[in-house]
Amino acid sequence: MIVVMDKDSGDDEIAQVVKRLEAAGLKGHLSKGVERTVIGVVGVATGLPELRESLALMPGVENVVPISKPYKLSSREFKAEDTVIEVGGVSIGGDQVVVMAGPCAVESEEQVMSTARAVKAAGASVLRGGAFKPSTSPYSFRGLGEEGLKILAHAKAETGLPLVTEVLTPGDVELVARYADILQVGARNMQNFILLDEVGKAGKPVLLKRGMSATIQEWLLAVEYVLSQGNRQVVLCERGIRTFETHTRNTLDVSAVPSIQKLSHLPIIADPSHGTGRWELVTPMALASVAAGAHGLLIEVHPTPDTALKDGAQSLTFAHFDELMARLAPVAAAVGRRLALKGA
Ligand code: PEP
Ligand code: MN
Repeated sequence: MIVVMDKDSGDDEIAQVVKRLEAAGLKGHLSKGVERTVIGVVGVATGLPELRESLALMPGVENVVPISKPYKLSSREFKAEDTVIEVGGVSIGGDQVVVMAGPCAVESEEQVMSTARAVKAAGASVLRGGAFKPSTSPYSFRGLGEEGLKILAHAKAETGLPLVTEVLTPGDVELVARYADILQVGARNMQNFILLDEVGKAGKPVLLKRGMSATIQEWLLAVEYVLSQGNRQVVLCERGIRTFETHTRNTLDVSAVPSIQKLSHLPIIADPSHGTGRWELVTPMALASVAAGAHGLLIEVHPTPDTALKDGAQSLTFAHFDELMARLAPVAAAVGRRLALKGA
């Protein structure tokens, strides 16, 4: 349920409600909107109908409303306004389209530096690259680890681009958070609940990818783990789901973009690289995602895709990435958005 406070309720009255919830074994999460404060109630308690009635009688309380969905803090019912996340001079979730680009995996200093310069010149505003790689096969490249994070840090120092990079295990959260501006939780870890708890405590924005066979409801419930730790800075990323189709690596569910926007206040971006697995489909699906309302894109770019250690088949060359960016600007404008520029 949510407790909607009166427009002119004071901090004291809000604190009393939170105290009352805690006494009942529940937790109150505040959402201070422009108009009024709403308190999202989460937890398990008995005697809810009585509690609801007694909360409704407390000073400063306008209304107590049950939330119909199983996910609470991520829902529009809890927070009507869009969440906008500020990362290194870029706003994700507002009227900008934020393009995050870079290689699938950090392979070398030279590879990352050249890619960072190229994607920045083309208009990307966040650099991506994996140092800890999830891998279906134990025999393929699993990343450079901390050495990879250091390479990303050099690229950030030179270009000023904030970094998004994946964290694979709860034990690595602290290390990765020292380098990353956004902690990526990958599709394979969407329901790694211990990891979700840890990134929820890390104090850094989180990019949560959709699991490859997760429903939208399961995805939003996974987000709840992060939000209920007190971290409100979560960006969702649609990266394709498993279907019967084998021509593409995954099926990019473009309809997830407006669906999430209807159900949740959190920003949603699309990853047409993993969503298709084929470089020639990346640009059309990037345009489609932005036309559908995506707040941003995650795009794999490599200096020489044919020699990439990971995901070469879906990686754009610098020239193809330039072309994507040039074609993206008018599509963004057509839906009332503009391309984010670092520091703009
Ligand atoms: C990635 O971004 O390189 C990645 C491994 O993505 P996903 O978790 O979507 O497969
Ligand atoms: Mn990849």
